Amino acid sequence: MAEKKRIGISACLIGMKYRFDGKHKMHQELINALSEHYDFFPICPEMEAGLSVPRETTDLHLEGSGKLRIIGNDSKTDYTEQICDWCYMKLEQLENKKLCGFIFKSKSPCCALKTAKIYRDGKLVSDKGFGLFAEMYRRRFFSNPCVEEHDYKKFLEILEK
Ligand code: SF4
Repeated sequence: MAEKKRIGISACLIGMKYRFDGKHKMHQELINALSEHYDFFPICPEMEAGLSVPRETTDLHLEGSGKLRIIGNDSKTDYTEQICDWCYMKLEQLENKKLCGFIFKSKSPCCALKTAKIYRDGKLVSDKGFGLFAEMYRRRFFSNPCVEEHDYKKFLEILEK
């Protein structure tokens, strides 16, 4: 039997309890639509970068220099270097995993494709931002289709063209 193609996916979307609150965001409809013909390759940037489960929530903050930082909402800890270092390492590893695309969890400061909230000087300046990992993945694997979970049907159409 031919090997199934492999899709990268935010791990919480297939039921892994890695979210800040120790829960998942399983998307059963998406799983049903894709799992017969594709394998999932789950990734959770925050958990794999060493943040705990459960953990404090985080948000993206834009500095005057234009750099985005991911900051803990309670402790004000700056997790940017820790997560970006992990992203560089993970993206290297993904070179030989041959993912045919990625489905990202919306609204996450690491995983969102175009729905992350961005703050500047404490004020919300956009709710259409890219999460840190999603942005780096998209730049590195620019020919791979990438969508958020609500667009999985569009993703399927692209793969099956
Ligand atoms: S970092 Fe991404 S994969 Fe991990 S829990 Fe948050 S949205 Fe899900």
